[in-house]
Amino acid sequence: MVKYSRQREAIKNKLVGRTDHPTAETLYAELKTEMPNLSVATVYRNLNQLEQWGEVNRITVEGATRFDPNTDPHSHFFCRKCGAVIDMPDEDIEIRRIAQAGFGGRIELSTSHFYGVCPKCLDIDS
Ligand SMILES: [Zn+2]
Ligand SMILES: [Zn+2]
Repeated sequence: MVKYSRQREAIKNKLVGRTDHPTAETLYAELKTEMPNLSVATVYRNLNQLEQWGEVNRITVEGATRFDPNTDPHSHFFCRKCGAVIDMPDEDIEIRRIAQAGFGGRIELSTSHFYGVCPKCLDIDS
């Protein structure tokens, strides 16, 4: 595990501050130039590790797994045209309040998925 720490740091640093929710393949392609010995499997393994530690979030959209350095609760918008995944504010508080009413358990988290066409694709259309 220690052996991969430099790679894990590099993978994490590639993710931090991003809002485009890259796939492991995207990260691999970007890191490959700096780290010729890197393999896709290593990128996956390190991303899984980071996810277990709660340092990144995994989003699965239409069969593709994307990674998100923002681990605060927030919702996502999925563009059906270009496949972009865009951060949306966590607006679920009211939904949780409504869902909680009459529900015997305790809701601790909920996220919404928004689907449609992103601003960029709308521009191209018009
Ligand atoms: Zn789009
Ligand atoms: Zn996000």
